[in-house]
Amino acid sequence: MSVLTAGALALLAACAHAPAVSEPTVAARELSPMEQALHAHVAELASDRYGGREVGTEGEALTLDYMQAQMAAAGLESGTHDPGHDWRKPFTFEGRRKKTVDTYNLIGRLPGTGPRFGAVLLVAHWDHLGKGRQCPRRGRDRICNGAIDNASGLAMMIEIARQLAKGPRPVRDVYFLASGGEEAGLKGAYDFAADPPVPLDKFVAVFNLDTEGLAPPGSPAVVLAGPRTEGLMALIDQTASDTGVTLVAPNERNLAFLKRQDGWAFASNEVPAVIVSAAFADDARFAAFLDRDYHRASDDVEHVELGAAADMVGFHVALIRRAASPATLPHEPRDEITANAP
Ligand SMILES: [Zn+2]
Repeated sequence: MSVLTAGALALLAACAHAPAVSEPTVAARELSPMEQALHAHVAELASDRYGGREVGTEGEALTLDYMQAQMAAAGLESGTHDPGHDWRKPFTFEGRRKKTVDTYNLIGRLPGTGPRFGAVLLVAHWDHLGKGRQCPRRGRDRICNGAIDNASGLAMMIEIARQLAKGPRPVRDVYFLASGGEEAGLKGAYDFAADPPVPLDKFVAVFNLDTEGLAPPGSPAVVLAGPRTEGLMALIDQTASDTGVTLVAPNERNLAFLKRQDGWAFASNEVPAVIVSAAFADDARFAAFLDRDYHRASDDVEHVELGAAADMVGFHVALIRRAASPATLPHEPRDEITANAP
């Protein structure tokens, strides 16, 4: 998740009445094969070797290599403008002290049978805070590994890609964006929106995965939705009931993140964009995470709970299949979108 504004922090403080929870640990239960697969990705991406996945570091190269290898093994191809060449779309932004930062989005694609009907996009940011002064250290630990924020979302993206690619070919193209520069203000998502591989108005739905590894299996989920999502919401309701996921209304703590997550780069450009998250719905664990581990060195793999994330892989696979079909999600024609800057 991106850095909160002072206003959002004040709002969070105002609604921080969550009951105290004990140390969340991975429950003493047999992990399902999906949880084991997610756990292996998180353990890798949040290991000290990756140095906290900071843009412009060696950890960036390791992260992009891992994600590209996993996406290719899952059955995706490059989704950049130059698909024969590279999965990485370079972009720059102005970082701290006016320094120019060179970094990348990683873009994969599952080609559909009817790309003229549009495209669907799944997003998860790959970057995190690294080990500089932006990472408050915890004792000797000075690396912000970002296990929950957002190795957990990346892990889900890989497994969703694998399941989708194994099934019948979708009609619409499905794009997978591992975005960079999110922690600096959704920079990669805005770059994708400003310079998309297909015109932005072709995207009928955008799903973001961010900070997912908090809730146990069988948890309910919330939807954070931007504008133009009425048709998508009906599809989400139907998919939730078909996959046994209970949807609950978002609270103020959830809504404080609507504009601080990559989906906003699309929602603010009138592209239908949502987060459907069980982590956000578990208010006690979400509040405890914000209080203790959010953007700190303690966001480590031992605090990750991937039970609900495993459920939400199946949910997103079913949802993306439906969103990728013009029979279940018609495309509302509209004027061509020219992306707004943040
Ligand atoms: Zn973050």
